Amino acid sequence: MTELDKQTCLHCDRDNNQVPLLNLKYKDTQFWICTEHLPVLLHRPEELTGKLPDAENLRGVDHD
Ligand SMILES: [Zn+2]
Repeated sequence: MTELDKQTCLHCDRDNNQVPLLNLKYKDTQFWICTEHLPVLLHRPEELTGKLPDAENLRGVDHD
């Protein structure tokens, strides 16, 4: 498994024994994010810079 294939939250690194994880597909790669950090992806995706490719280019839902 590569680093990106591990099934842990891309933000907090917890696995599905600790938190519910949601599966994402982005740039043909699978990512996992926990329910606690899904709002980060939705509202402040730039915080995932370095964890999700091009996260700095994603637009948050509340972006103005
Ligand atoms: Zn998390």
